[in-house]
Amino acid sequence: MTNDLYPTLVGDLLSKRAELTPERVGLLDTETGVAYTYRELNARANRLANWLRGLGVAKGDRVAILAQNSIVYVDLLYGLARLGAILAPLNWRLTARELSYIAADTQAKAIICGPEYVELLADLCREVEFPIVIGIEGAPIAGALSYEEGVAAADEAEPECPSLTGEDICCILYTSGTTGRPKGAMLPHRQIVWNCINTAISWGLRADDVSPIMTPMFHAGGLFVFLTPLFYVGGKIVLARGFDSEGSLALIQREGCTIVLGVPTLFQMWMNSPSFAAADFSSVRAFLSGGAPCPPSLIRAWRAAKGGVLRQGYGLTEVGVNCFTMTDEESARVVGSVGKPIFHSRMRIVDGDGRDVARGATGELIIWGPHVCAGYWRNPEATAKSLRDGWFYTGDMARQDAEGFYYLAGRYKDMIISGGENVYAAEVETVFLEHPAVGEAALIGQPDEKWGEVGLMVVVTHPGRTATEEELLAFCRERLARYKVPKRVIFADSLPYSPYGKVMKSELREKYGS
Ligand code: AMP
Repeated sequence: MTNDLYPTLVGDLLSKRAELTPERVGLLDTETGVAYTYRELNARANRLANWLRGLGVAKGDRVAILAQNSIVYVDLLYGLARLGAILAPLNWRLTARELSYIAADTQAKAIICGPEYVELLADLCREVEFPIVIGIEGAPIAGALSYEEGVAAADEAEPECPSLTGEDICCILYTSGTTGRPKGAMLPHRQIVWNCINTAISWGLRADDVSPIMTPMFHAGGLFVFLTPLFYVGGKIVLARGFDSEGSLALIQREGCTIVLGVPTLFQMWMNSPSFAAADFSSVRAFLSGGAPCPPSLIRAWRAAKGGVLRQGYGLTEVGVNCFTMTDEESARVVGSVGKPIFHSRMRIVDGDGRDVARGATGELIIWGPHVCAGYWRNPEATAKSLRDGWFYTGDMARQDAEGFYYLAGRYKDMIISGGENVYAAEVETVFLEHPAVGEAALIGQPDEKWGEVGLMVVVTHPGRTATEEELLAFCRERLARYKVPKRVIFADSLPYSPYGKVMKSELREKYGS
């Protein structure tokens, strides 16, 4: 896919903004209390670029970061983009073994490490060599350069850019990979720019919007849901180091946040938090839940408690984080839907042979547009599987209602086959979540001599509520075809979640699968 328009690149997004509104605050770092204007943000990105260029980082080189959320991610995103170098964040929740696979795959020229991860880096360096090692905030790493000193001493003039197009890669993000090895999605400049355009128009972002980042910036959500689009329109980001439910509720109110992203588990944590009842969300014009299915019961309970707008969004690393949109009015009317496709995008729902299914039927969601990634880093097989004729095969099941609203229906592969019938986990889980005692539910398959596979539902009840296995199965039988009803229900204290709120079914399968 080419970008036939004037090729705005990621570095331009910040320099243009700094030209338009230099004295507006673009980012407040809540950890240090420092507010950065767009002029300062742009100057930092230039300094970083000039410094790294002097160290030999050039177009196409990867630069990894292993650090908590901070302004450094912003410097790197825009600064590396100016050099045509590639940002490759590392997920610090992974083990050294998982990380060394990713680091070896990325072959980064430089790594930037925060003080919290010095030991993890030492483990990593036993397996992988990084020509340049940089420590931030005084991270005690033998032989490392100091980030702060390097950036402070560098020139703040815009570096001379190499020749780049929208197709050049700006960022490699490794997807959580529910099966097999992690894959590095290659995000070209064009994807990031078009995500800004799509988000700004489809979500109606404004210069007076304020949005917090509480989720990790090694993930697409932290970097691209609101950070780049809000910088595009000249809004303000309030950057938090991490998430804690009480602190984040206070932050939303104190900073007058207007648009707030969360994953379903965050919304549940907020609702369980002691200060939720008294929380005043009058500054917030919309909450957005994404990253994992948000149970309609949660959306209804939130609305009943707080009113206001809670929308669902859907996206994925490979196709951009914001793929759908809906109006405020629709978010109350079509609870459970993710909305309609964003402006500059095409979507289809297809069967296993790639043919469009009838309206209302469930199939795989495939997406085409300037926001689709360039494939997977050093993985042509995975690229060929996911990207066909420019269409990205998401692996997510979806259906469209008569009005055109889309509903996600689980992962394509997250199903069990019982007696030859496909049973989609998401459908059965949704029914369980409608039961008043059920807070969380995850379906996995267990081998069965007669049926091949049968369903096992792992349930976490709401605090203070109980239910029996028989009661839940009876509830389910009233609502679903017999073959979809799980054979067993197991009660657990909690479900294992990934940082982005997805239930880690592989862990459940390990524990209960046999
Ligand atoms: P990631 O690339 O890690 O952001 O994960 C993307 C995946 O998260 C998608 O392919 C979906 O499976 C899932 N996802 C994101 N948003 C939603 C949503 N609103 N409802 C259901 N699943 C979602």
